[in-house]
Amino acid sequence: MSKKEVTIVGAGLVGSLLSIYLAKRGHQVKVYERRGDMRKEKMIAGRSINLALSDRGIKALEEVGIMNEIKKIAIPMHGRFMHNANGSSAYQPYGNEGQFINSVSRSELNKKLMDLAEENNVEIIFNQRCDSINWEKNTAQFEDAGHQLSTVNYQLLFGSDGAFSAARLTHQLQHDRFQYQQYYIDSGYKELNIPPGPNGEFLLEKNALHIWPRGNYMMIALPNMDGSFTCTLFFPFEGEPSFASLDTKEKLRAFFKTTFADAVPLMPTLEDDFFNNATASLVTVKCFPWIREDKFALIGDAAHAIVPFFGQGMNCGFEDCSVLNELIEAYGDDWEAILQSFQQLRKPDADAIAELALTNFVEMRDKVGDPKFLLQKKIEAAFSKKYPDKWIPAYAQVTFSTHIRYSEALQNSMRQETIMQEVMAMPGIEDKWEAEEVEKMILKKIEQRG
Ligand SMILES: Cc1cc2nc3c(=O)[nH]c(=O)nc-3n(C[C@H](O)[C@H](O)[C@H](O)COP(=O)(O)OP(=O)(O)OC[C@H]3O[C@@H](n4cnc5c(N)ncnc54)[C@H](O)[C@@H]3O)c2cc1C
Repeated sequence: MSKKEVTIVGAGLVGSLLSIYLAKRGHQVKVYERRGDMRKEKMIAGRSINLALSDRGIKALEEVGIMNEIKKIAIPMHGRFMHNANGSSAYQPYGNEGQFINSVSRSELNKKLMDLAEENNVEIIFNQRCDSINWEKNTAQFEDAGHQLSTVNYQLLFGSDGAFSAARLTHQLQHDRFQYQQYYIDSGYKELNIPPGPNGEFLLEKNALHIWPRGNYMMIALPNMDGSFTCTLFFPFEGEPSFASLDTKEKLRAFFKTTFADAVPLMPTLEDDFFNNATASLVTVKCFPWIREDKFALIGDAAHAIVPFFGQGMNCGFEDCSVLNELIEAYGDDWEAILQSFQQLRKPDADAIAELALTNFVEMRDKVGDPKFLLQKKIEAAFSKKYPDKWIPAYAQVTFSTHIRYSEALQNSMRQETIMQEVMAMPGIEDKWEAEEVEKMILKKIEQRG
């Protein structure tokens, strides 16, 4: 296979991982990153301090041989721990025994990926912001911290510069018939903090993702290695209550005391966090095509940013890299075929996970506190345990599978939901959910629907 000079814009999670895959194949890879080197500079925390890493992402990290390292900084989360408004709590395992997701620090993961990239002879050039791409001349222009411009000729360029990608904006968006859609939800998010206890201990159950579901908003908390939890409040921008309405410390404290009563005593810096930390928006980006000839491709959030409610944005971007690697294996030097197949394969999957992620917002903030919904999940789990070849819960298809495509998971989940609606409509289902009658009904429906 002939060696290419590959230019990558953005050394975030996906760009760094992609550079490793390509360098391992012997390509000469240069990555241009807008920010300084986070391994040397203290960076202002960007989006989400920690992330849920699951099987699709793990598969890719295993393929480049870094998963053992990442395991050391990963905290397994075996289920959802719900903190209800009435003070009660409930625990819902994510899957079967041995199935869990992992809380990982975004910056530690990114740093480790950069280290590995450099060990594989990738050159990462920091403080280089991509300003524009000239697709006729195959050049990209970068601006450094001192506003000095430089122009780079590229043979093959990947835009992995995130949801607000300059590569997408200054290249693809300039072409006729480029499809582009961005969609903001009415809620934004803000990060808050639960510090460790006096002896560094976790003040909530460590191995769980905590959720305070509250109807049209929610707070979640993921554990960090130092005993703290990063909480994320997903909350409307406007209305009552909202980021806009909680405009004084008094209003904030009163609201939290009644709404998140069990969390407040664990949040000594609540007011400072709330009024000093940024309120960020949540966007879904869909676009097409992702590629041009054999020279250019968008990947990761630059191609398909999604809302974070399925914990899949990064996992999906990592899966992009893994799929691209398989296509390189299949097509060798034929980059036009590689990139063409890449977008044909991944676009339906990216659209599907975008939809699943939006749906999961409603599930997490609203339904997980609803006894009827919890019963439905219990019935599904019991049926799936008995008939694992006939029923894999949608969450497990997305999170714990590396062979079911997101697009298949979406189709399957819609089919399953229709069946479950019929099951939940059975009179007296609350009392007879374990009865043979219910099992038979599900089996019959599966047969009818194929
Ligand atoms: C609140 C929140 C929680 C999330 N939780 C999860 C989760 O639990 N699990 C999960 O899988 N995903 C999660 N995600 C999604 C995940 O953060 C993204 O999908 C992932 O970061 C995408 O990686 P990326 O490398 O494509 O983009 P990014 O991480 O955005 O990286 C882009 C990189 O490009 C650089 N860059 C940007 N513009 C330029 C430019 N013009 N020139 C040069 N460089 C540039 C940036 O500095 C950055 O380093 C979450 C997202 C949010 C907002």
